[in-house]
Amino acid sequence: MKCKVCRGHAVVDIRRHNAAFCTDHFTEHIHNQVAKAIKEFHMFGPDARLLIAVSGGKDSLALWDILLQLGYDVTGFYLDLGIGSYSTRSKEATIAFAEERDAKLIVRSLAEEHGFTVPELASLTNRVPCSGCGLNKRYEFNRAALEEGFDILVTGHNLDDEVATLFGNVLHWNTDMLARQGPVLEERVLGEGDRRRMALVRKVKPLVRVAERETAAYAVVRGIDYIVEECPMVEGNVQHKYKEAIAMLEESSPGTKHQMYFGFLKKAASRFADETDAANLVGCANCGSPTIAPEAGSDRVCSFCRMQSLAQRRRDDGYRARPVRVRKRR
Ligand code: SF4
Ligand SMILES: [Zn+2]
Ligand SMILES: [Zn+2]
Repeated sequence: MKCKVCRGHAVVDIRRHNAAFCTDHFTEHIHNQVAKAIKEFHMFGPDARLLIAVSGGKDSLALWDILLQLGYDVTGFYLDLGIGSYSTRSKEATIAFAEERDAKLIVRSLAEEHGFTVPELASLTNRVPCSGCGLNKRYEFNRAALEEGFDILVTGHNLDDEVATLFGNVLHWNTDMLARQGPVLEERVLGEGDRRRMALVRKVKPLVRVAERETAAYAVVRGIDYIVEECPMVEGNVQHKYKEAIAMLEESSPGTKHQMYFGFLKKAASRFADETDAANLVGCANCGSPTIAPEAGSDRVCSFCRMQSLAQRRRDDGYRARPVRVRKRR
């Protein structure tokens, strides 16, 4: 296998591009793919101050490395979810990454900020861990960006993540979600009030042109010491199942993922633009964050505050929480 660019020894092949690359040209290829996505989708300019949500996994650390290499001013944000030793190790990996590169990093803990870890929330509210976790992460990432003065939040969603989400949204015809499926989610500011509480910051996904296997290869090539193990609470995560199904299709027909995602953006996304209920955002009566306007007669309280208050009520009442299913370490 020879490098497409220099004909030297190739270390990575990318079947959907029908190309293989040596270490240097693979690194260059990934940088180019990210730079292309930033430009193509008008994500941000060269002087932007970026906050990147990092988990200690390959995608977010690889993207942080790429953006630093491309010369962007990018600060990491790590949220400790309190998932036992998994969270401990992922935090250590993130801190070590930042220290090696002298990169700026903000660390917050869900338990310290709000009193509950992800496993506690899952058992107190009887929700699938990933659903409560996702809600908490979205809320805290947005809050951190606003409080720390960042206008753009960067996430490490790769092509596989986006295709799996798209697949799930089509399976269930979540037209509201399809309207917000793109690589950029524009900022939303609510009329009057404190802007630090009343906005959803702009969110961008510069890894949409890079597949999961490629971010893993990039992390290895660049010597990034990421946390390899999966979150033990991933059991029941339906997105995971979609990824496995799509990986089978990609294996037999390379390019399927790219075709599905970019075909959707080009030919179908605009058809769902009117479907989003994000037009009906109002400030949460409790925390001020934007939330979907409730039905007449319901309280104007966001999902995050509702979840927190249910967990608090049940803890106060001595609710006997169901144990949460976790996957054993492999
Ligand atoms: S697998 Fe689920 S619980 Fe674990 S970090 Fe991801 S979203 Fe959270
Ligand atoms: Zn080469
Ligand atoms: Zn709220």
